[in-house]
Amino acid sequence: MLYKKTTHLRNRLDEVRKQYKSIGFVPTMGFLHQGHLSLVRESIKQTDFTVVSVFVNPTQFGPGEDFNEYPRDLKRDIKLLEAEGVNAVFSPSSEEMYPEGYSTFVEVLGLQDKLCGRSRPGHFRGVCTVVLKLFNIVRPDIAFFGQKDFQQAVIIKRMVQDLHLEVRIEVLPIIRESDGLAMSSRNSYLSPDERKSALVLYRSLRLAEEQFFHGERNALRIKKDMENLIASEPRAKIDYVEIADPNNLEPLTVIKGSALAAVAVFIGKVRLIDNIILKETSG
Ligand code: AMP
Repeated sequence: MLYKKTTHLRNRLDEVRKQYKSIGFVPTMGFLHQGHLSLVRESIKQTDFTVVSVFVNPTQFGPGEDFNEYPRDLKRDIKLLEAEGVNAVFSPSSEEMYPEGYSTFVEVLGLQDKLCGRSRPGHFRGVCTVVLKLFNIVRPDIAFFGQKDFQQAVIIKRMVQDLHLEVRIEVLPIIRESDGLAMSSRNSYLSPDERKSALVLYRSLRLAEEQFFHGERNALRIKKDMENLIASEPRAKIDYVEIADPNNLEPLTVIKGSALAAVAVFIGKVRLIDNIILKETSG
């Protein structure tokens, strides 16, 4: 069930492939919540053998970011995954993934510099590198990602296409708390007061949605109103508010068709992200 060594997991997966079973894969950094579990459930539904990785990837954290503080509880994660019926949990050490002399990195140019890439240089280089390594270890038929990290999903899809990887990428909806806050392992950092303030992210996205439904197509006006709403929350500091093309993440001034509304906001010291797709409902 728990694999810490690449070779052990690979041996197990070789047996699985010999039985012509399909393999589903859910990469995570652990401290699991219902958002992660929604991906796990879909993988179990769609494939014969589900692998979940739990690895806090050092190369996607910048200097001064929260790599050391990032919440970890592997025992609890394994219990939750066992209860779902996951077949294998892969939780390697940093040394297993990046032994001495490690020198290879993957970059998706352009896309990696937008939105979160602006304030987290090197982040998506670390993400792409670890995801490609994990894909090569697991060789999944389908890999499941959350829309919560919309930019990540766009970048991974680009990498898969550009490098001819034989994996299908599925992106699943954001799972939220009952008041609308997007579930995140980082929510555990929030004090009770900050937890209340954190709702401003979702409220700003709802405001964008409301304006869009009332016919507003001026992205700059929507963005300004979102910024004003977030600025009215004293504990919040905007990293970015963006209305962008969901395909190439380029900022939009006018919305034609659909748009991504995405926010990154510091609540105290905690950086949270959220997003919503603005699109006309058909029928
Ligand atoms: P993480 O552990 O934060 O690296 O996330 C692992 C995967 O879970 C990524 O594909 C995330 O997009 C996804 N995920 C995280 N939070 C949520 C959420 N609230 N709803 C759906 N998927 C999520």
